[in-house]
Amino acid sequence: MGLDGATKITWYGHACVEVRTPGGKTILIDPWFGNPRSPKAAADVRACDLLLVTHGHGDHMGDAVALASRLRPAWPCIHEMSLWLARRLPGGSDATIGMNKGGTVAVGEIAVTMVGADHSAGDWNPGAETTLYLGEPAGFVVRLESGATVYHAGDTNVFGDMRLIGELYRPDLALLPIGGHYTMGPREAALAVELLGVEAVAPIHWGTFPILAGTPAALRHELDERGLRGVVVHDWKPGDAIGS
Ligand SMILES: [Zn+2]
Repeated sequence: MGLDGATKITWYGHACVEVRTPGGKTILIDPWFGNPRSPKAAADVRACDLLLVTHGHGDHMGDAVALASRLRPAWPCIHEMSLWLARRLPGGSDATIGMNKGGTVAVGEIAVTMVGADHSAGDWNPGAETTLYLGEPAGFVVRLESGATVYHAGDTNVFGDMRLIGELYRPDLALLPIGGHYTMGPREAALAVELLGVEAVAPIHWGTFPILAGTPAALRHELDERGLRGVVVHDWKPGDAIGS
C-alpha cells in the first residue's frame, strides 16, 4: 500500500523529520531543530507522542532530551542509549523503551522496528577525554495505523541487508541520507533504493552544510542510470511536507 492522504511527513532539515499519522499522532525522528536550515525552533514544537533517535551523534540527538523532558513521548531507543537517558530524563528508566535491532515495539497502533545502519555512534564526553558510546547506530521502520510504512535510515552507507529490510517490511517511503562525506551519497543511495525496492524516496542529510553536497537531482540522475525511472524522488526543502 502507499502512504494515505491522512499522513503528513515534514522535513525540518538535516535528518529531522516529523510524521503526522492517520491516527493523529506526532512522531519526531532525529529532532535537531537547531540545524542551520530548520524553519522551526525546538521551543515551538507542541506535540510529540513518539520520539526516535537513530544514533548518539549530536546532529541527531539534537533537541531530543529537552523535547522528551517537556513533552514526555514514548521513546524506543537502542539499549545503551536508554541506559544513559535513564539518568537524564524525568521518569528515569520508564522514560524510554530499550530495544535492539530486529525488535518491534508497539506504541498504540504504531509499530516501530529497529534495523541496522552502517555508521558509528557516540559523542564527545566532556571531562572524560574520550567519546561517550551510546549504542550502535540504527534505522527505524515505522508502520502507521493505516499499515503504511516509512523507513528512516538514519546515517548510513548502503549495505546489502537493505534488501532484507525491503523484503520484510516493504516500506512505502524511504527517508535516505544522500549528502555524502558522513553518509552515503547519491550513487550509493540509488543502489539502496534498488535493494529496498521502494517506489518513493525522500532525501535527507544533505544541504545542511556545504560538505553535504549530494542533491535530489544527483540522486534522480543515478536512479535513471540504474533504470529506476519510475521511482519518485521528493525534491524538498526544509519546511516542505509530503502528504496532506
Ligand atoms: Zn551520525
